Amino acid sequence: MKEVILPEKLVTELEDIYERLQSEYSRVADSLKFTCSGCPDNCCDSYFLHHTYAEWAYLWHGVRKLEVAKQKDLIKKGTEYLTLCEKAMVAGERPQVMCPLNDEGLCALYKHRLLVCRTHGVPATLTRPDGQSLGFPGCFRCQDIVELEFPDGDSPSVERTAMLKKLAFLENELLEGKRHLLPRVKMTIAEMLVKGPPTLPLAHCERKTT
Ligand code: SF4
Ligand code: SF4
Repeated sequence: MKEVILPEKLVTELEDIYERLQSEYSRVADSLKFTCSGCPDNCCDSYFLHHTYAEWAYLWHGVRKLEVAKQKDLIKKGTEYLTLCEKAMVAGERPQVMCPLNDEGLCALYKHRLLVCRTHGVPATLTRPDGQSLGFPGCFRCQDIVELEFPDGDSPSVERTAMLKKLAFLENELLEGKRHLLPRVKMTIAEMLVKGPPTLPLAHCERKTT
């Protein structure tokens, strides 16, 4: 097995997807007069799962740029995170543990944070490939604004479908059209850190690991 390295072309495309989603996020946040400023909460302790090899490889693209001691520290924090999550799940609770990348309120890999980290907050919509429409209400603070300002349910929202389609195409290109044949990704950031970068037997993979 070899490490999956995102080719530069796909790095550019992924960053473009992030930028477009963030710009849509800003448009909606501005129109709702919503910001995270003064929030008593921190959604970096929300339990999110991530689903693409592309984002996993991109995260490691960022990890590799850190000093080795910092990388080891993040992996250690990732292991601690997983232990706490397991405890919560055994107790039948949804885990609420601070992300191992959160460093005193700041993201240690801000440029490389994942899509969910960039889009959580404001309302969003998504149409799945099977035609089903999904709606995301945004975080609790944003929901308060929406309820007050848009009681008829006509609040602005981020339409994620086109960008998520692009991400699916990008993932397919990275996986050489073999996405359906490979193990599915369903991981927290901590798992991505602890497992190390993704490894697959594909041409985009470099640096032999086994
Ligand atoms: S997205 Fe919402 S919950 Fe998260 S920090 Fe911002 S205001 Fe707070
Ligand atoms: S990756 Fe960064 S922004 Fe995302 S949850 Fe972790 S600390 Fe927060």
